[in-house]
Amino acid sequence: MRYRSTSQKAPLTSLRGAVLRGMAPDGGLYMPAEIARRSPEELEEFRSLPFTEVCFRIVKPFATPDVPEEILWQIVSEAINFPVKLVSLSPGLHVLELFHGPTLAFKDFGARFMARLMGYFVRGESRPLTVLVATSGDTGSAVAHGFLGVPGIRVVILYPSKRISEAQEKQFTTLGENITALEVSGTFDDCQRLVKQAFADEPLNKKAFLTSANSINIGRLLPQMFYHVAAYRQLPVASVPLIVSVPSGNFGNLTAGLFAKRIGLPVAKFIASTNANDVVPEYLRSGEFHPRPAQATYSNAMDVGNPNNFPRLLDLCRGRLEYVQKEIWGHGATDEETLAEMKAVWDRYRYISDPHTAVGILGWEAYKKEHPEPSQGLVLATAHAAKFAEVVEKAIGTAPPLPDRLAAYLKRPKLSLSMSSSYDDFKQFLLTH
Ligand SMILES: *Cc1c(COP(=O)(O)O)cnc(C)c1O
Repeated sequence: MRYRSTSQKAPLTSLRGAVLRGMAPDGGLYMPAEIARRSPEELEEFRSLPFTEVCFRIVKPFATPDVPEEILWQIVSEAINFPVKLVSLSPGLHVLELFHGPTLAFKDFGARFMARLMGYFVRGESRPLTVLVATSGDTGSAVAHGFLGVPGIRVVILYPSKRISEAQEKQFTTLGENITALEVSGTFDDCQRLVKQAFADEPLNKKAFLTSANSINIGRLLPQMFYHVAAYRQLPVASVPLIVSVPSGNFGNLTAGLFAKRIGLPVAKFIASTNANDVVPEYLRSGEFHPRPAQATYSNAMDVGNPNNFPRLLDLCRGRLEYVQKEIWGHGATDEETLAEMKAVWDRYRYISDPHTAVGILGWEAYKKEHPEPSQGLVLATAHAAKFAEVVEKAIGTAPPLPDRLAAYLKRPKLSLSMSSSYDDFKQFLLTH
């Protein structure tokens, strides 16, 4: 598979080139040059083959010829070593739990796969590779754990000071080894800006071998197709359309859903479920895309004012609003609605949802109100409720049980370094460490 840029100017490149660069040299995002539709027979096989085999088959055309089959098999089986669980809240509403990986959030899929892919691509390099990542919460821990101890790679994580929960922070600031956390006095958008500026800084890139692990990296998106297929395997066969609600921030998750649809998954519509940072739902309504500063909410991993995968969404829909509207419906929820929904879901189904998943359920309910015809709803549950214990407690009156894994991190000392939001400070850090 060759990869092209959404900006159309950069030359085609290999998967290795796309993964190690992160962003294309013309400022665009890498896309597979083509996405082949699988045959109905193969899709049917996806329901019955072992899951590792299915993941391997899904990703193989995207990784050939860069990654030999036996290496790809190893990467897939090591990265996706935890279950995807489907929970049916009612006959027409299902929740796909994507949070059974090591950091209890769906980003483990992308991060674990990409780390192993990069590790393979940089074997034999003389300079260490520096992975830069800006996080609004969960990316940091998923990426840090994904890369922890991978030789030849160091990870620098930027996160907004005091804007993420202690549980989130402790998961990636306590690791040490090849993982450095920078606590930035600013917002997530500041962190994202610093990372973008570093990539655009040519003199810096001559000195340091930099790459990105944000959801702009195609190496993170490819494995996110896997769980859309996992849902297809587990959902009851139904004759009504399938509607998939995706709690969204940077829209990597939803982009991967569209990839999965392009290979043949029968999804009638995706719902872009956001919190108050509803730039994309707003675009779907008005046709105008107006990025704006991120606003802090309870579902903080989705506090994104300028979703970085938006160019990919547009590209997949040939740049036309009416095509985007055909595939995606949008809804933005307030914090009050999110809290009330967590309570309602608990009262109605005895299910504890984290605030992101609650935003997803709200999106589904809003969609149903406008489209009462029969359909089957699937909500992606992106984080374990225990990662947002304070919000859960506020909503339902009791805190969710703390998994042992999380409890262990909370006891460890934070090792992050403080940093201003000025680019000069950040550059200085990169050049001297
Ligand atoms: C990152 C994240 C999201 C948003 O995913 P995108 O791919 O950025 O849209 C949603 N929920 C949780 C818990 C996350 O960590």
